Amino acid sequence: TSIQFNGKKALVTGAGKGLGRDLVKVLAKCGAEVCALSRTRADLDSLKEEVPGVRTVCVDISDWKATRKAVQEAGHFDLLINNAAVSFVLPFLEVTEENLSMHLDVNLKAMFNISQVVAKSMIDKGTGGSIVNVSSVASHCALLDHSVYCSIKAAVDMLTKCMCLELGKYKIRVNSVNPTVILTPMGQRVWGDDPVKSKPLLDRIPTGRFAEIEDVTGVILFLLSDKAAMVNGHNMSVDGGFSI
Ligand code: NDP
Repeated sequence: TSIQFNGKKALVTGAGKGLGRDLVKVLAKCGAEVCALSRTRADLDSLKEEVPGVRTVCVDISDWKATRKAVQEAGHFDLLINNAAVSFVLPFLEVTEENLSMHLDVNLKAMFNISQVVAKSMIDKGTGGSIVNVSSVASHCALLDHSVYCSIKAAVDMLTKCMCLELGKYKIRVNSVNPTVILTPMGQRVWGDDPVKSKPLLDRIPTGRFAEIEDVTGVILFLLSDKAAMVNGHNMSVDGGFSI
């Protein structure tokens, strides 16, 4: 039987573009009541036109207080996908405090912040839930000029396990997906236009290609669903075999 989320409320962060935007569409198709959170209002407005019934929250998740308030006001969620992240790569020796702080704020601290609010509501309601954190192969494979991104995605993998450990007793499952390059706006910017950079990575992928967005949304749907009822604390590679 196919995956259905009728009666479930889902929150997707970073829903304006790329993976998050498509995820909103597939979750809605599966019957979920979806709330799309992102920081560019125009993206959310156009998403609303494409997916009637979607709720939107416009906030910059690097702002801890504003985000906490916005997510609290958005109400209860049964499903959370911590997808929003940034990637502005620099050689290790050129990393600035500003670059590091920005990545920490968006890619890690916001995950703590939003997950705390959503998990507390799941606990109060007593009906459990499922959380998927979007990590990357970069969490366990060093990539040139990605020291900030890689180290913070490694933290995302460990946060996933720690959340699993502490939230299991409330019937909340927490997993991560760890994709290879997906040619979203982020993927295009970092990898898409430079075969010199992308070829060595592609050559290490047994399936011989980068990920399509639907390769990743499919795995996220599975992890969110009851079909994955015993999959918990897992960092699931979606990388065509890159990590073997
Ligand atoms: P995109 O850059 O294409 O889209 C990211 C979305 O997140 C945008 O809508 C963006 O909004 C939003 N966002 C970014 N920062 C903030 C913020 N501070 N507050 C609110 N919203 C924000 O990224 P992808 O879709 O490619 O990435 C999705 C996830 O997948 C990320 O976690 C990424 O690390 C991961 N990933 C991506 C890979 C790839 O190759 N693309 C590979 C492996 C993992 P705006 O445009 O307005 O800033």
